[in-house]
Amino acid sequence: VLALGLLVWFFTGDWSRVVSILVVSCPCAVVLAAPTAMVAALSAAARSGILVKHIADLEAFARVSAVVFDKTGTLTTGRLGVSKVLPAEGVAMADLVRAAATAERHSNHPAARALRELAQGAGIPLAETSEFTEVPGRGVVARIDAVEVRVGRAAWLAEAGLAAPPPTDIEDGSSVVGVAMGGRFAGWISMQDQIRPGAAAALRDLESLGIRHLAMVTGDRAAVAETVSRRIGCPHVKADCLPGEKVAYVNEVKARGHRVAVVGDGVNDAPALAAGDTGIAMGAAGSDVAINSATMALMSNDLARIPFLVRLSRQSRAVILQNLGVGMIFIIAGWVLGGAGNLSPVGGAILHNIGSFVVLFNSARIVRAGDELEADEKPG
Ligand code: ADP
Ligand code: MG
Repeated sequence: VLALGLLVWFFTGDWSRVVSILVVSCPCAVVLAAPTAMVAALSAAARSGILVKHIADLEAFARVSAVVFDKTGTLTTGRLGVSKVLPAEGVAMADLVRAAATAERHSNHPAARALRELAQGAGIPLAETSEFTEVPGRGVVARIDAVEVRVGRAAWLAEAGLAAPPPTDIEDGSSVVGVAMGGRFAGWISMQDQIRPGAAAALRDLESLGIRHLAMVTGDRAAVAETVSRRIGCPHVKADCLPGEKVAYVNEVKARGHRVAVVGDGVNDAPALAAGDTGIAMGAAGSDVAINSATMALMSNDLARIPFLVRLSRQSRAVILQNLGVGMIFIIAGWVLGGAGNLSPVGGAILHNIGSFVVLFNSARIVRAGDELEADEKPG
């Protein structure tokens, strides 16, 4: 700019032209281009109940090409209801429920809450436990009156040498946990989950935005995973995943060249949330683990917020580019007019401010984004 000013002075000897050039060259509009757009986008996100930890994540979200969802608590509500209790031979139903609910006393897994609610509803009081351990993605072990009780997935009970007959008489859409007491298999308890309202619509919306890879990962049985994915139309499914296998799947999709967003509720999927290029925690009002592992968090449980984020991020990038273009056009126009002697320094100052205002108003268009989304449902 100084060299340009010198050149103009050298050829014209007119100081007023040089001052005009210096005034219009102050790059206010260019400097404002990105920050104003991002502040507007952040406030639109915040108003829609989306917490964005780093502004760069919001910008990078425009390039996401794959979204990996956790099942329980994300694509489904995670509010399980016990549908069947199938005690083994010689085990009383009430003993089975009491043992399972007691062992799950201190777990925050959705299955644990369902078992506690069942016991409470049936008026079965819980006992005291000692030595409680939770094995992530597998189940819990607790000691109740010196008897070891295990509650968890079938394969895990089998690994522990608790040969369990395969669960019979259970519908495809039900998750099932096995219970063992004192080293012996004691029965199955099956639970029904509900598909989250809006899950199918959110997936369709993401497809229409050109997201090429949509997948569901779950620690649940294949039969349940398939039922859910068929109902919501999720093209890729991976069932029977331990938390580490969810991470491996995310890395595999990344290795295929995708930019991956992972959406989960933090129960057994926190490592996967951290593994994604972007991690989105559901219902962050509920889970500290999720919010710590994720880069963004939805304060509500509404999956429509995810396609909204894609749109918001793309709109912000577009607005930034427009702003930079406008800023540069005003500067170059100022140089041409100023150099030719058609712009006084005062005119230059006015032109300069008009450029900044155009950029500000252009960015302000983003602030209203998300008004079409319905108000947050209560978390939980
Ligand atoms: P998802 O990936 O769908 O969120 P999880 O990985 O949380 O599922 O759990 C997978 C399976 O592991 C459950 O279906 C259940 O059988 C078993 N499981 C994990 N944790 C527990 C627990 N605390 N109590 C009982 N079962 C559990
Ligand atoms: Mg989960």
